Amino acid sequence: MSDNCIFCKIASGELPAKKVYEDDDCVAFHDINPAAPVHLLLIPKKHVCSLADIKDEDAPWLGRMVVLAQKLAFENGCTPGHDGGFRLVANTGREGGQEVDHLHFHILGGPRPWQKRAAPAA
Ligand code: 5GP
Ligand code: ZN
Repeated sequence: MSDNCIFCKIASGELPAKKVYEDDDCVAFHDINPAAPVHLLLIPKKHVCSLADIKDEDAPWLGRMVVLAQKLAFENGCTPGHDGGFRLVANTGREGGQEVDHLHFHILGGPRPWQKRAAPAA
C-alpha cells in the first residue's frame, strides 16, 4: 500500500469502485471514464508503479494477470472469436501516457461501429 495512491485505496476498499473481480493478488473494476463499451482496469494489489519497475521474479504473477485479463474480457462483454477480441494496454510512464502510478492493464472491447472505416474509393 502506497500513501495517496488511488488504486491502492480501491484495492483495499477505502475508495469505492465497480469491482468485477478480486482475488488475493489482484482486483478488476470498471474505469470511471470508459473509452470503449467494455473498459476494465486490472491491477495487482501490491503497489507496483509501472511495467518499468518489473523484475524477472514478477513474471509468475504478471503472467497470471494476462491470462486473467483474457477471461475477464470475455466474461464482461468482449466478443469472442476472430471478429471480436479486445485490447490489453499498459500505459507506462509519462511518455507512455500513464496518469495513475500504480501498474494497471486497461481491458478495452465491445462493438465499436464508429471505428469502421469506409471502403477506399475505387
Ligand atoms: P492511465 O492513463 O494511467 O493509463 O489510466 C488511468 C485510468 O484510470 C484512466 O482511464 C481513468 O479514467 C481511470 N481512473 C482514474 N481515477 C479513477 C478512479 O478513481 N476510479 C476508477 N474506476 N477509474 C479511475
Ligand atoms: Zn498503489
